[in-house]
Amino acid sequence: MYLRPAHLREANTRRVFRALLARPRCSRAELARRTGLSGVTAGRVVDALKEAGLVVEVETPPPTDGATLRLMGRPPQMVALSPRPRFLGIEIGVRETRIAALPLAGPDPELPCRTIPTPDSLDAFLGSLRKAKASVGLKRCDAVLVSVPGVVDQGAGAVLFSPNLHWSEGAELLHGIGAQNPAPVIAVQEIQALALGHQAAEGSESFLLLDFSEGVGGAVVMQGHLLTGEISLSGEIGHTPVMNNGRRCGCGAVGCLETLASRNGLLRSFREAHGNRRADWTELARHVARFGIEPWLDQAIDATGVVVAGAINLLGIGHVIVTGDLPSLHVDITERLRASIEEHSLLGRFGRVACATAPRRRWLGLIVAASKDVLAGGGDDLRPGIGDRRKHLYLAV
Ligand SMILES: [Zn+2]
Repeated sequence: MYLRPAHLREANTRRVFRALLARPRCSRAELARRTGLSGVTAGRVVDALKEAGLVVEVETPPPTDGATLRLMGRPPQMVALSPRPRFLGIEIGVRETRIAALPLAGPDPELPCRTIPTPDSLDAFLGSLRKAKASVGLKRCDAVLVSVPGVVDQGAGAVLFSPNLHWSEGAELLHGIGAQNPAPVIAVQEIQALALGHQAAEGSESFLLLDFSEGVGGAVVMQGHLLTGEISLSGEIGHTPVMNNGRRCGCGAVGCLETLASRNGLLRSFREAHGNRRADWTELARHVARFGIEPWLDQAIDATGVVVAGAINLLGIGHVIVTGDLPSLHVDITERLRASIEEHSLLGRFGRVACATAPRRRWLGLIVAASKDVLAGGGDDLRPGIGDRRKHLYLAV
């Protein structure tokens, strides 16, 4: 394929940006090494990014020991992505919604972040959002980055179906957020945002990410690219039926995996197993931390293993990343899940399935999704931001 110079510049810019996201401080030489670009090209991209205000020079503390200083000379000048808050991030969850000011460099614990209980209607949500946004104190932003649960239609800017948050369905949610903010809205499906964040932080090329919260969701990164469906639906692994499971799911079907392995599913099994109808999540977590994997929990893990084995057989991916509630309950859970996936998959007959826990990096994933617009143009005609764009809804990835 012939790559036009502008495309090449953009591709090079993206490589430098990715390298800086994964490693917050880098010298120009290190960036060249990490991206495979020549020193001159990497330096040119850094200069263009600096001019656009997206990259800044950072101080490198000199060695404290005078002998090392004489031996090594001056440390090289380091660069980093700009720490200036640039985006308004909104992470819509079934129970809680987080609102934060986000710099290009990734989430910063020093910057304000508000958590509000997710209201149960669109009007209440938009009202709470307006108040929370004011307390975050971001006067203007280049874009509003939103992670959205459910099935999202990227073209129409609409939530087609949200099994655990039905009021968010339709086009009104994202358009309502857009109406409150004089900046483009970039929406990313919540599990896809996690996968993009994990990929940016770890540089992993191919993996299946599973997240356990109010639902059970999946996203696939295959050979460096997020896999998206032909229809606006992918990774909905939580809505795969499990044999002999008669629980009704929020999606309307009976027997879905997430009725066993989501937070509420686990809580229901715990209550039934211990005859304690009032037990809450804290009690469950304390119990599992103390007693480990009991049969009611093992059943949920194994049901997950069977469903994931089906995905692995189909996709040909041997790396599973798990985030969220289930793996955080006990250190043995991830290994038990790995063994179950291995037991039920073809790969397990002759090879090994890798399964690891990871932190949720949803904010980072949203920034990666937004970078497509921030870096568009690359090199000479790199724009300082996307705030000057005609206001409309972007649906990333
Ligand atoms: Zn379901």
